Parts: sequence; C-alpha cells; structure tokens
Amino acid sequence: MTDTLDIKITKTTKSRLAETDFSNLVFGRTFSDHMLVADYEGGEWKNIEILPYGEIALSPAISALHYGQAFFEGLKAYKHEDGTIAVFRPEKNAARFNKSAERLCTAEIPVDLFTQSIAALVDVDRDWIPAAAGHSLYIRPVMFATDAYLGVTPSKTYKFVVLTCPVGPYFTKPLRVKFETHYTRAAEGGFGYAKAAGNYGGSMLPFKKAAEEGFDQLIWTDAKEHLYVEEMGAANVMFVLDGKLVTPSTRDTILDGVTRDTVISLAKSWGMPVEERRVSIAEVVEGARNGKLTDAFGAGTAATIAPIGAFHHNGEEFTLSDPSTREFSQKVLKTLDDIRYGRVEDTFGWNY
Ligand code: PMP
Repeated sequence: MTDTLDIKITKTTKSRLAETDFSNLVFGRTFSDHMLVADYEGGEWKNIEILPYGEIALSPAISALHYGQAFFEGLKAYKHEDGTIAVFRPEKNAARFNKSAERLCTAEIPVDLFTQSIAALVDVDRDWIPAAAGHSLYIRPVMFATDAYLGVTPSKTYKFVVLTCPVGPYFTKPLRVKFETHYTRAAEGGFGYAKAAGNYGGSMLPFKKAAEEGFDQLIWTDAKEHLYVEEMGAANVMFVLDGKLVTPSTRDTILDGVTRDTVISLAKSWGMPVEERRVSIAEVVEGARNGKLTDAFGAGTAATIAPIGAFHHNGEEFTLSDPSTREFSQKVLKTLDDIRYGRVEDTFGWNY
C-alpha cells in the first residue's frame, strides 16, 4: 500500500488539553484527545477512523480476553525545536508488530497502514506533544482478536487501536537490580520475541516480589539454567565490558529492541567493538569485581537509557560507577537526544 490512507477523522468538541498538567505526567496515565481504530474483517483492514479517545464496546466472549491473542508496540514522537514532529523509527515497530502477529497467528498489517495511521493520529494531536527536555508523545498501537467465540482457534476478526500519551522521563534515578533466577520471562520455543500481552501479565508477580525485596527492576535470565542474562524488565540490557559493548544476542526469548539496535548502530559508528552473544551472570559479576564493567543499562523506548546503579547476586551487592560519569551511556543519551529532538542532522534516517 503506497497511496495515502482513507482515514475518517472526527475531532473532539471537548479537548482536555487545557486541563492537563504537563509538569506532572505519570507514564501511561494521561491520554491525548484522540485515538485511531481500524477493523480487520473479511480478510482486509477497513473502517480506519480517528475519533475522540474513549470506550469501545466489545463482546465479553472475544478471544483476546480468553486466550491472549493480543500484542502491542511502543514508540515515540518528538517535537523538534523548529516545530517539526518526528516519529522515531516506526518502520522497525511495524516490522516487529508483524512478527508478533505471525507468532500469535493473527492478521498482519501493511507497514504503510501502521506508519500512516500513526502519523495521522500524531498530527491530529500534535499540540499534545510536550517539548520539554526528556518529554515526548508515547504511541501505543495494539492489535487484539475480536471474534466472540470460545473455540481455541485464531480469530477471523481483529481490531487495531492506537493510543497516545504525553510522557516525561520514565526512570529518574539509577536502578538497583537483581538477577531473577527463579521465575522465567520466556522459554526457547515460546514467544518472548513477540510483544505479546501475555508476556507482561506473566512478569507482574516476579516484579512485585523483586519490589518487595527492595529492587527497582530485575534482570531476566535463561529459562534452562538461569546462568545467562536475557533482558532487564521491559527493556534490553547492555554492558560495557573491557571497552566493548556487550549485549545478549536476540533469540526467541528476547525482544529485538529498537533502542538496542539504535545503541548498537551508534557504537559501531564510533568504532567501538560490539559483541552480541550469550552473556553470563558470572562475567558481569567478575567485571564488577575487577573494574572492567564500566557501564550497565537497560535500553528501551519508554526507559530510553536506564542506568543500573547497583546489582545484587548471591547475597553480595555490587555498586557501579556514578551514571553521570559513564562515558558511553552519557554519549549515547546526548547523541540520541540530539537526533530525536532534531538538533543535528539525522544521518541514520531514523526520524519519520
Ligand atoms: N524488551 C522488552 C521485554 C520490552 O518490553 C521492551 C520495550 N518495548 C524492550 C525490550 C525494548 O524495546 P524497544 O527499544 O523497541 O522499546
């Protein structure tokens, strides 16, 4: 699909913009005035509509609710200093959305429909994009199965919905984390690489327990032996070990993060060695002991670069360097901000 989409637009008559406190945004709680909704029926996407944000009537029998045929994406739009609005790398999210669709056996969505729908919605709510440092418009596309049928079989109908939320910084302090060696986020042959709703439902109990133990986040480890690092919370995890950027290689238990890919591209452009491979807990601990671990952070759209301040393992606490003194992640953050807020030329072609 390359033609411009036919999108019906109905604007709200009661904007909530004036009553919204942009200095006090809690991630994911404030929704912009509009949303986009489209239906998949009879083998095609139709009824693409932007309308005031609000409730949708659904049957209680829809298979998304019972069997979890549901998945989502997360990306952001930024306001440049000259007023230009840019969405960061939406084609990557479109591709991952369709990877999730394939794994969850739903309809797929043409990349143009995904990106143009988002562009149209962001344009309608462009006044909702905060321009302050660290702020942006978080975009949440979701697809879910809508057949009212209790058979355990792929639905024939789906909804594609896009919501947007003005957001500020996600994590405001360095994180104290632990390696999760009991619970598992994803197993080989499973669907950890998909942004399936169920992956997040299953992570809540381990998170709750980690929080009760005083941790801000947990680092998932492999399901088989719990010896290898996989991801950190809902972000990829990256380390600088002995001067090299080291991160777990993507596999079916790991979400192929857009931020992860972006950080790797930046590191390579700076001539830094990058290793995508299995990363053991043992080598991270060893690096913290011998001083070769000079940077450690989570990388994700919501979190951006979330520094690990300290980690705990087998009763021992390891405190890492002050994040503001870390050469690599500071340079990544600055460069990313420069690109996303349009302060430098976008040589990678990441702004849409
Ligand atoms: N892993 C998981 C499990 C996530 O939920 C996310 C957030 N989407 C990421 C990694 C980071 O991906 P991205 O950089 O594309 O946001």
